[in-house]
Amino acid sequence: NEELLINSEKLYVAGQLAAGIAHEIRNPLTSLKGFLQLIASGRGNSSNFYDIMKSELIRIESIVSELLMLSKPQVYEFVHKDSRQIMADTVNLLETQAILHNVMIEFHSDYRPLWVLGVENQLKQVFINVLKNAIEAMHNGGVVTITMSLEEESAVLIRIQDEGSGIPDEQLAKIGQPFYTTKDKGTGLGLMVTYKIIDNHQGRISAESKLGVGTTFVIQLPYKEIAVAKAEESDFAL
Ligand code: ADP
Ligand code: MG
Repeated sequence: NEELLINSEKLYVAGQLAAGIAHEIRNPLTSLKGFLQLIASGRGNSSNFYDIMKSELIRIESIVSELLMLSKPQVYEFVHKDSRQIMADTVNLLETQAILHNVMIEFHSDYRPLWVLGVENQLKQVFINVLKNAIEAMHNGGVVTITMSLEEESAVLIRIQDEGSGIPDEQLAKIGQPFYTTKDKGTGLGLMVTYKIIDNHQGRISAESKLGVGTTFVIQLPYKEIAVAKAEESDFAL
């Protein structure tokens, strides 16, 4: 009985998500169709339409690729990784974008490796999503401070603090809901995907924010010491 209930809840959520996706993709499709009709009819200067059409196509593309992150079937390999390395790679990846927004990324971390058991690309996706939001929230530039440390030998603690616009209290509960965005060109999918990945990794994520001061995202991932893992493996072999 309880299981039935859970299933119907899942169906309900899936239905809501499907409706949202359909809506979000239909809008740019409708507009693309309109422009194609205009071009076909020979009215207006068609070269003016191409930029808009391209941005509508890019919108559809980014919605679809973010949703792909949610699909299960691919085989995910959980491997031991130093999460500091994953973060360092991510920071490198976003360097150009940060500079374009006058944002400096400061990265502090423990000297020892911060081992996690995870899917590297997914964790990278999490860091990208949160860092991109931080950069996008700083309309006049500023500093994003990343701090990584070990908490009680059991969790890797990652704080990503920005000096951006902040999130009003009544909006804080809505972030992470599918398609919730306050940006003109946002998809409102980044944080949903992020929460899902963190959940798959038995982690936690939370956000604190102060309007006009900034926002801090705190991520906790289980710490998986590599020596222990190796020892367990070799025990098994003996
Ligand atoms: P998107 O970035 O496409 O809007 P997200 O799911 O990544 O979608 O974020 C949802 C919303 O959460 C954003 O539109 C923004 O309003 C809010 N948000 C997320 N991170 C921050 C941040 N660091 N500072 C201010 N607002 C944020
Ligand atoms: Mg985002």
